[in-house]
Amino acid sequence: PTDINALADEYIRLAYHGMRAKDKSFNADFKIDFDADIPKVGLVAQDMGRVLLNLVNNAFYAVNEKSKQHPDGFKPTVTVKTSKKPDRVELMVLDNGSGIPEHIREKIFQPFFTTKPTGSGTGLGLSLSYDIVKAHGGDIRVDSSPENGTQFIISLPI
Ligand code: ADP
Ligand code: MG
Repeated sequence: PTDINALADEYIRLAYHGMRAKDKSFNADFKIDFDADIPKVGLVAQDMGRVLLNLVNNAFYAVNEKSKQHPDGFKPTVTVKTSKKPDRVELMVLDNGSGIPEHIREKIFQPFFTTKPTGSGTGLGLSLSYDIVKAHGGDIRVDSSPENGTQFIISLPI
């Protein structure tokens, strides 16, 4: 049984400090928006932590790229949110980056698919995340637009 809020909190901080240590020009903020009513969920915490780390790292990368293109008036922000539904919990990672172009959206969960320059991405993060979420009986979906950015939603049975 795992406290999803505590897990999400741990991994967004880990990702944030990792990005700051790696890239001196990294400039983004993070927010947490946790539902206090979340029950503990049976899961392999280390595996779900990896999923979170992948999603949050992708989100920080996306907002950081956008902030390089729009240096003025843009507040790069990544939000991790949890929400209790009747029979499941949802774990969301939201960013206000440039979104995922529609024609590549169906490919992002494929192993080795990446749009990042050589050395920046392996293209394995989302494929691994998909497998881990499925192994927990859950679902992962994505919502994205150039205006609002990207939202990954993990749904896990209670
Ligand atoms: P990698 O991060 O190594 O490229 P992933 O499997 O984590 O591999 O992601 C695959 C691709 O999906 C990325 O290269 C990028 O094109 C796209 N992507 C994933 N998350 C986001 C996001 N939050 N915003 C924009 N694009 C994203
Ligand atoms: Mg990735």
